[in-house]
Amino acid sequence: MRTPVVAGNWKMNGTRSSLQALVDAIKAGKGAAWKADVVLCAPFPYLQIVADTLAGTDIALGAQNVSEYSSGAYTGEVAAAMLLDLGSRYVIVGHSERRALFAESSAQVAEKFAVAVAAGLIPILCVGETLTEREQGMTLQVVESQLMAVLERAGVAAFTEAMLAYEPVWAIGTGLTATPEQAQEVHAALREMVAARSSDVAGGLRILYGGSVKAANAASLFACPDIDGGLIGGASLDATEFLAICQAAG
Ligand code: PEP
Repeated sequence: MRTPVVAGNWKMNGTRSSLQALVDAIKAGKGAAWKADVVLCAPFPYLQIVADTLAGTDIALGAQNVSEYSSGAYTGEVAAAMLLDLGSRYVIVGHSERRALFAESSAQVAEKFAVAVAAGLIPILCVGETLTEREQGMTLQVVESQLMAVLERAGVAAFTEAMLAYEPVWAIGTGLTATPEQAQEVHAALREMVAARSSDVAGGLRILYGGSVKAANAASLFACPDIDGGLIGGASLDATEFLAICQAAG
C-alpha cells in the first residue's frame, strides 16, 4: 500500500510574510487523521523560515532545484548538502520549466537526481510531454526517454525512496488538466518501465500527477490506481485549495 503524497511547488512566488501566513494556515488546517504525506517546496531564500515554521509538524520541506555539483566554484548554485543543512528532505528535479526555460537536458537532470540521492535528499523527478508531442502520439516515448536517462545514471534502486511526477507540459499552469484516463495510462506505463528493472521498486514507487490540479478535480485523479498523489503548482499558494487537495489524497 503506497502512502499518497501531496507536494506543493510554490515556484518563484511569495514573500517572507505571505509564505509564513500560508504555512501557518496549512499547519492549522491540516487534519491529524489525514493519511497523505505533505511536502512544501519553497524558493531557496525562504527554506530556512519555512523549516523553522514546520519544525515539530509532520509536514516536510522540499526545494525546487539543486546543483549537479557538490561544492566549490559554481557561483549562484545551491548544493544538495546545503538543502539538507537547511532542513529540506525533498527536491524537485527536471521540472518542465527548468527543462524548457533553463535548457536543462535529461543528462543534467539525471546528474542532479544522482547527486540528490547521494546526499540523502529524496528527489521528485518530473517527466512529461508537450502538446505537440502528445498530438504526434509521442507521449510514452518522451516520458520513457526522460525516465531512462535517470534510471541509466542512478540505477533502479535509487527509486526505492525517490518519487516520479507525471506533469504533461500542456497542463501546467494552463487550467487544462489531463483526464483521469489520460493520466492513469501514462502512470501505469511509467510503473511498467520501472518494473522492467525491478517489480519490487515499481510496486512501491509513488507517482504523482501534476498539471492544474485543484480541489475540484483532485479526487477523480487520485482515485486512479497508479496515481499516488499530486504535485501542485498554482493551487498550492491558496491554503484552502491546497488543504482540500490534501484531504482528497488522504
Ligand atoms: C507545477 O508547476 O508543477 C504544476 C503542476 O503547476 P500547476 O498546478 O499550476 O499546473
